Amino acid sequence: MNNNETIRRFPCTVCPMGCELTVDVDKLTVTGNGCPRGAAYGVAEVTHPTRTLTTTVALRGCDRVVAVRTDKPIPKELLLPAMDFVRDYVAPENVQPGAVLVKGFMGTDANLVVTGK
Ligand code: SF4
Repeated sequence: MNNNETIRRFPCTVCPMGCELTVDVDKLTVTGNGCPRGAAYGVAEVTHPTRTLTTTVALRGCDRVVAVRTDKPIPKELLLPAMDFVRDYVAPENVQPGAVLVKGFMGTDANLVVTGK
């Protein structure tokens, strides 16, 4: 068995410490984490990775865009279809930061929310 297939190394992105995690994919054990959140992140990253989508959407009736993000991470495999969705999405012109644009975004329990103007 090739050790490279069962051991993965990557930084934890949960906090700015950036601990370098080593995850045994078969045993789902994590080393290098400075706290339990890193262990949970390490296991999730090799079993069902998720990402927070951060992007912009067009505003109706003008040439401007507004910053948006998902309020929870969504499955990584949904990022490309999600970008296809937001490319065609047009938000109301008067949306305010914090407004929920899409509930249950891409069939997940995350919402697409406005983060900027
Ligand atoms: S393992 Fe813990 S301390 Fe280290 S980066 Fe992740 S969350 Fe931060």
